[in-house]
Amino acid sequence: MYTCLNIFRSTMATSAHAGQFLNMLLKLVNAKNTMEIGVFTGYSLLATALALPDDGKILAIDTDRVTYEMGLPIIEKAGVAHKIEFREDLAMPILDQMIADKKYHGTFDFIFVDADKDNYINYHKRIIDLVKVGGLIGYDNTLWLGSVVAPPDAPMKPHVQYYKDFVLEFNKALAVDSRIEICMLPLGDGMTLCRRIN
Ligand code: SAH
Ligand code: CA
Repeated sequence: MYTCLNIFRSTMATSAHAGQFLNMLLKLVNAKNTMEIGVFTGYSLLATALALPDDGKILAIDTDRVTYEMGLPIIEKAGVAHKIEFREDLAMPILDQMIADKKYHGTFDFIFVDADKDNYINYHKRIIDLVKVGGLIGYDNTLWLGSVVAPPDAPMKPHVQYYKDFVLEFNKALAVDSRIEICMLPLGDGMTLCRRIN
């Protein structure tokens, strides 16, 4: 049962080509100070950590330290664990603290969001002020297994059905947000890149 559950959850990690893309992108924009919301076993975290300079930083947030520690030996073996500050907590209170403390505003070069899809819009309201003007936000799973373009009566698994409308509404909100430019990539399960423009 436990093993089956883990095999199922292993699909939560970003696909290999999306990880490779993130790694290249972060090198191209010279990202140094980053944040990741939703770490799981650390695949996208490793791709990010490998792209940053030796004094680069990733604030990595997840409610589950156990899964983070499962992948940590690989991150250590890659020699990039010193770039990571892991916080075991819900993302929202951490973001609220950073918003309250003005010193974090406009300080992140890149923020990757890959946690609870029903909160993406709430994360966006906060992280838009934490990312630099000219900086990037990456939202993962914005195609939500293709459900966002499926006909209304298409059969889908309950968790896909549940999050579908949140992802759809989120995508619509990004499309009309004048503070950002967006680029939706059909990579992995869909990744929307947002560049803060003001
Ligand atoms: N980015 C990872 C996959 C993350 S899976 C990768 O590509 O490898 C989603 C993760 O979000 C899970 O580990 C889950 O524990 C975490 N999560 C879900 N809701 C959260 C919340 N409210 N705050 C912080 N982490 C959350
Ligand atoms: Ca994901």
